[in-house]
Amino acid sequence: MLTQPLSKAIRTTPTHLRRLKQMGLESVGDLLTYFPRRYTDKREVTPIIEVKDKEPVVLRGKITSITSNARNFRRRMSITTALISDATGTIEAVWFNQPYLSQQLKKGSEVFVAGKARFHMKKGNFVLQSPEVELVAERQIHAARIVPVYHETELDNPKAVGRISSKWIREKLFPLLPFAEYFEEFLPEDILSEHNLISYSEAVRHAHFPSSEKKLQEATHRLAFNELFLLQLAALYKRYWWRKEGEKHVKKITPDWELIKKFLEGLQWPLTGAQKRSIYEIIKDFEQKYPMSRLLEGDVGAGKTVVAAAAAFHVIRSGYQVCLLAPTEILARQHLKTLRELLTPHSIQVHLLVGSTPEKEKKEIRSSLKSGEIQFAVGTHALLQEKIGFQELGLAIIDEQHRFGVKQRELLKTHGSPHILNLTATPIPRTLALILYGEQELSILDEMPPGRQKIITRIVTEQKRNDAYSWISKQIESGRQAFVICPLVAESEKLDIKAATAEYERLQEHIFPNLRVGLLHGQMKAADKEEQMKKFVQGELEILVSTAVVEVGIDVPNATIMVIEGAERFGLAQLHQFRGRVGRGIHQSYCLLFPSSYSDTAMKRLSALTKYSSGFKLAEIDLQLRGPGEVYGTSQSGIPDLKMASFGDLPLVKKAREAAEKIIEKDPELTQYTSLREKVAENANIGIDF
Ligand code: ADP
Ligand code: MG
Repeated sequence: MLTQPLSKAIRTTPTHLRRLKQMGLESVGDLLTYFPRRYTDKREVTPIIEVKDKEPVVLRGKITSITSNARNFRRRMSITTALISDATGTIEAVWFNQPYLSQQLKKGSEVFVAGKARFHMKKGNFVLQSPEVELVAERQIHAARIVPVYHETELDNPKAVGRISSKWIREKLFPLLPFAEYFEEFLPEDILSEHNLISYSEAVRHAHFPSSEKKLQEATHRLAFNELFLLQLAALYKRYWWRKEGEKHVKKITPDWELIKKFLEGLQWPLTGAQKRSIYEIIKDFEQKYPMSRLLEGDVGAGKTVVAAAAAFHVIRSGYQVCLLAPTEILARQHLKTLRELLTPHSIQVHLLVGSTPEKEKKEIRSSLKSGEIQFAVGTHALLQEKIGFQELGLAIIDEQHRFGVKQRELLKTHGSPHILNLTATPIPRTLALILYGEQELSILDEMPPGRQKIITRIVTEQKRNDAYSWISKQIESGRQAFVICPLVAESEKLDIKAATAEYERLQEHIFPNLRVGLLHGQMKAADKEEQMKKFVQGELEILVSTAVVEVGIDVPNATIMVIEGAERFGLAQLHQFRGRVGRGIHQSYCLLFPSSYSDTAMKRLSALTKYSSGFKLAEIDLQLRGPGEVYGTSQSGIPDLKMASFGDLPLVKKAREAAEKIIEKDPELTQYTSLREKVAENANIGIDF
């Protein structure tokens, strides 16, 4: 029943069906699980005499007259006018370009109308403009109830043919509601009762057309729980398999704290508390009966490398090899340099293997890895695909895994279940980390090494723009350099580049004619980009204008000014990353935020940036103000698109986690929960074998 195609189940046009398909709605079940975005309460009916100017109302009355003029030639528009009366008064309603209304609505019809009335000066009475209208029937779906509002397509163009409007969805969906009975209950009885959850089919019905506020609340609670629970279950299921598969080949390492102490004594500075804690957590994982799978989170500069190096040191001293995978060659080289500094004094061989490594050298490295002569290989993700064999890989360190998505399963199967340590500089608050990476353990570096300079951050208003430019000139005269980041103006990179080019020309020609300004954007050839960067690093350019897509991963200690145009359009996490590009040398550094809008949220977010320097703190604030999709961008970060649940609802996340844990403990392979197993597979997009 639920799989019945919509083309059979509802009467509609091919255009509508095509639109539905684009929205991913093809079957009855699809439409029934297309849940409202929000609701409007249209239960209270106002007597006509109490209508007030510009206030939304629901009225109930009889149509006392209705006329529809033909298409007005000049304005190409048809107008339908009706008078509606109840016991207390009469009001006028007008609709534009809905000529069919005069066929549906007759003189004498009982109707509900919902909308805003305006006082019409000339006529001296109230007029409802294009209100929603519905005949009074046994069951109301558009008025006199809590009305579901759906995410609409073609919102900006209400005249588009085949537009899937909220009203359209309500009309088509309502008759299908009885089919909700066919949804199978996939949650076990004990979870339903423990968490006071209504059945899935009931939740589906009441999520669309709730009979009361209480029912609505029960329905959204159930559906929110569903989402979080299924994510947690999928995560724990993955963790279960990871451990089970890994048990067979686990490289168990007994912690040797003396060894770690020796390594730390070789450093020039003491570790932060957070670094010590993280090293401890990692080393403790090594003695479990399954391989580690841990995420180490820390702001740029928090000192993740030395933590990873300490872990690698222990693993190597225990007789295993280590590899580190970075998203780009430049980053791989940077890691190589740091790791050699840290590990060569201990006579550990660290080697680089990347795409551009000459074939002959690759061969040698491969054979030395095979023989175990090289203990540490650093490379890009290509390292794993290069058909290399380790003698015995004990630990894989993966830098920014979401950027190239190393499948843990591959590591497990082809490289003998190494311990895995993921590193990320994206500050993800704990709740979100639980939702996103629930299958991994988490270590957080929430403490910066001492002595980092605080970057002075200011919001600059339009009136102060010229002052800011003269200040920048002075800074540059005294020998410093500046970055200028241009905003994302559109979805299209082309337009962004155009804007950046215009900004570059404006600055060069009109603002800083005596300075050397450079431009960097995403569509430049790699060689040109490098050339521009090199010029900036060597001081041949004083100002570098760049689009946001360009990642300047290179240290320019002499650059002390970061100007960000249209600052409020970026997420706080990204602004924080931009800001991290200055303050790398000995000079006091500054970040100037030029907003293009002064809305409340914009100002709140930007002033958070002026106050806080912790990426975690900023991420939390941004999460509250904007939600995770906007903060991290859903497509690339793999953040699930939660429909009913909220990422901020920590208590519910915890409940869902506990419920999922209980099930996995009892029946980790979900053999007794077949429908749950299917749900997990389909929702989490994972093959059922892992
Ligand atoms: P991340 O990879 O987290 O961005 P790095 O590991 O590159 O940060 O460390 C940034 C810099 O801080 C490096 O130059 C490193 O040598 C230094 N550093 C790391 N830990 C400490 C510490 N505890 N005290 C002082 N300096 C440190
Ligand atoms: Mg780093």
